[in-house]
Amino acid sequence: MKKEAEPSCSFCGRKKKETQILISGIEGHICENCVNQAQQIIDEELFQKHKKFQFNLPSAVKPRDIKKFLDGYVIGQDEAKKYIAVAVYNHYKRLNQSKNDEVEIEKSNILMVGQTGTGKTLLARTIAKFLNVPFAIVDATVFTEAGYVGEDVESILSRLLQVCNYDVTAAQHGIIYIDEIDKIARKGDNPSITRDVSGEGVQQAMLKLLEGSEVLVPPQGGRKHPEQKMVKVDTSNILFICGGAFEGIDKVIASRMNQAKVGFKKGDDKDKVNKENFLSHISPLDLRTFGLIPELIGRLPVLVHLNPLDIEALRSILTEPKNALLKQYKKIFKADGIQLTFEDDAIEFVIAKALEYKLGARGLRSICEALMTDAMFDLPSDTSIKEFIVTREFVESKLEKTNVAKLKAA
Ligand code: ADP
Repeated sequence: MKKEAEPSCSFCGRKKKETQILISGIEGHICENCVNQAQQIIDEELFQKHKKFQFNLPSAVKPRDIKKFLDGYVIGQDEAKKYIAVAVYNHYKRLNQSKNDEVEIEKSNILMVGQTGTGKTLLARTIAKFLNVPFAIVDATVFTEAGYVGEDVESILSRLLQVCNYDVTAAQHGIIYIDEIDKIARKGDNPSITRDVSGEGVQQAMLKLLEGSEVLVPPQGGRKHPEQKMVKVDTSNILFICGGAFEGIDKVIASRMNQAKVGFKKGDDKDKVNKENFLSHISPLDLRTFGLIPELIGRLPVLVHLNPLDIEALRSILTEPKNALLKQYKKIFKADGIQLTFEDDAIEFVIAKALEYKLGARGLRSICEALMTDAMFDLPSDTSIKEFIVTREFVESKLEKTNVAKLKAA
């Protein structure tokens, strides 16, 4: 009778007696060393797959595809989406252009103007999601000119470094959203003996970041101080998207267009339409009148406006996007075996309140939280409840008890 060969590892060939553990499979065996090695390979592959940022746009992706992606998350704002899609597409062309080419494609930093809660941050965030690059949001109001209390503008880049775990190459291909850029506008024309530390000085300091240069960045943000080791970041390939409400710019546009806003009562429907139309005529000149310095305007060549959200847009926001608010609540309740339904007239009422409080889409969230918190607290403990229908009466009675000022602050 033929003697069976001693089993061995099918990967490294070690005999059973040379291993500590030999695991049998259908076709062969694997030893403890090879299991460990395989695990390392798996870890590394998965890390690369999930952690790696991508700096190229796949060649099949065209501006229309970018807009389509944005459509999945952002309601309306078609013109803004179109401009952003083109700007981002060209940004990648710029990244891949040959250094020796005479014609140099310039940076297409973007400036978005629109009332609060109309989707500026959401657009910037969504585009970063699409591109799979590091993305940071900073607020322009925290920066001051060097030497004054506040943060140096370089710490804008610290935020970006932090989100990509100090991977400088990744940061150099990232996107930064600078919110409330309108708050650093030069304040009026009245001459002041105190220096304008939060306005023009900050705009000046921002120029070198926006145009693309090598900047020394304090890795922890805040103020530069001598003990801190600086990190050098090249901003040439960072896409800057700025946003602001530019409260009152409609009047600037109106007077430029020589159409002073007269004859409309405040809160009138026509007033809203009127305002919407004015914003759609915004030009760099208006930004200058508002108090942005020409050099800064020049470095934000893509100027887009966002429209105020009307009833239809607010309804869509509640129900349509991939992660629409109502879908989120349904999911939360479903996890506890409860089917959640919103009646149409309940939704109407929520929208009417959001418009009344002038909170844009932001108000939808705070109103919904006010409506749903008690139910989210109580219902999971009550296993007899399988269905929860939100009616208009329920919404009315809940909101009656809610502090409106709190909603506005949210
Ligand atoms: P902004 O930056 O213009 O002040 P945000 O983008 O932060 O406003 O919007 C606040 C929230 O309102 C977002 O998180 C999103 O849920 C919702 N929202 C605002 N605008 C839209 C929109 N156009 N489409 C979908 N959701 C929106």
